[in-house]
Amino acid sequence: MSNREAATAQAEILTKAGHITYFAGGCVRDKLLGLKPKDFDLATSATPKDVLKLFPGSNQVGAHFGVVITKYAGHHIEIATFRTDGSYADGRRPDSVTFSTPEEDAHRRDFTINGLFEHPETGEIIDHVNGLADIRDRVLRAIGTPSHRFQEDALRLLRAVRFATTLDFPIETSTLTALRENSHLLHKISPERIRDEFSKIITSRNRRRGIELLVDTGLIQHVIPEVIALIGCEQPPEWHPEGDVYTHTCIMLEMLEDDASLELCLATLLHDIAKPPTQTFDEESNRIRFNGHDTLGAEMTEEILSRLKYPNAVIRDAAHMVSRHMQFMNVQQMRKARLKRFMSVPTFEQEMELHRVDCASSNGFTDNYVFLHEKAEEFAAEPLIPPAWISGKDLIQCGLTPGPGFKEILDEIQTEQLEGRITSREEALAYLKKLL
Ligand code: ATP
Ligand code: MG
Repeated sequence: MSNREAATAQAEILTKAGHITYFAGGCVRDKLLGLKPKDFDLATSATPKDVLKLFPGSNQVGAHFGVVITKYAGHHIEIATFRTDGSYADGRRPDSVTFSTPEEDAHRRDFTINGLFEHPETGEIIDHVNGLADIRDRVLRAIGTPSHRFQEDALRLLRAVRFATTLDFPIETSTLTALRENSHLLHKISPERIRDEFSKIITSRNRRRGIELLVDTGLIQHVIPEVIALIGCEQPPEWHPEGDVYTHTCIMLEMLEDDASLELCLATLLHDIAKPPTQTFDEESNRIRFNGHDTLGAEMTEEILSRLKYPNAVIRDAAHMVSRHMQFMNVQQMRKARLKRFMSVPTFEQEMELHRVDCASSNGFTDNYVFLHEKAEEFAAEPLIPPAWISGKDLIQCGLTPGPGFKEILDEIQTEQLEGRITSREEALAYLKKLL
């Protein structure tokens, strides 16, 4: 059973019990746009108490806000009672909710394209907010007075940029003006909620426009303010004919594949984040330099992504990619062992992508990229890092006491193995004897 079928079955139970029930919000929007809805939310005249009676054992989390989560054929379905939100003292959530009519419920929603209902059986669209016209014209418009709506709930500021980005909708003029005028309110929103919206923006195929909208509206100041310094940060034109660091970064974001991973998108946005603080002018060679921007950039990446409460694995991978992005310029000079180790890290495929768009957006070089592809093929027959011929146990057997020196010896023997100079355990042991 699909999630749509599960939601339809639940709607039928509610309708049979005498409650008006519709599909609501995102799923109606997505279907009208020809997209596949992620989940089907129901809006109903049934109170949470009624819903719980009809679906015993449902999750009551949020029932005081009028939302019950039910489980049906393995699908979680949100059933929300038609409601009006009371005042928003904190700019984040209503102080109270009152159960009310479909029309009022549509008006408490954020954007007209999100304010539609659909009759689950007939497919009829119930439109109290002129959302159908905006879906047809592909425009994002706040319901009601935009500035009031953003002042009520500042997360809507970022949701506006998210929908404009993922759907590639222009933002209606008065909504855009209100976004610019109220962008500072985003400071009220927790890093976790900012992160979740930002992740949707940066992983969208339209991510370049998303970043440009965040910059244009001033919201970037409350998401990743460090990005602002990239604007107007000049680079040597012979390496970067495309322009400043911001332009370079935007072009790269656009060049990434549509389905690029979150880590890769973040690493792309942040790969040159330390160029502004490391920029110097070298009189001797008469050019701008950014010494150490990769190392400092990795530190800044960690700091920025930790601040946004990203999971440690995401932070680690993104920072690792940033820290290594300059090493791609040297791969053709690396000895075999060094190269194999360089290529053996789990993020390597993503780093290849980062390198590809880094060059494609600037100097257009492809030689390192092609070289690494050829090497990957050449090395494909066996693991990049094959099992070691000897271990610490062998060193102990040779009378050595375990300590930091062990790693040095084992690494040296591994280097010989990676270079192809040691091809058996006997050779490895012989090499060890010689070392000692
Ligand atoms: P997605 O495809 O990301 O799930 P969605 O539109 O379904 O998008 P949800 O966050 O799941 O977004 O919310 C469901 C619906 O609830 C929205 O379509 C909108 O009508 C309403 N809504 C959600 N968040 C807000 C908000 N902060 N202010 C007003 N209405 C909101
Ligand atoms: Mg949804």
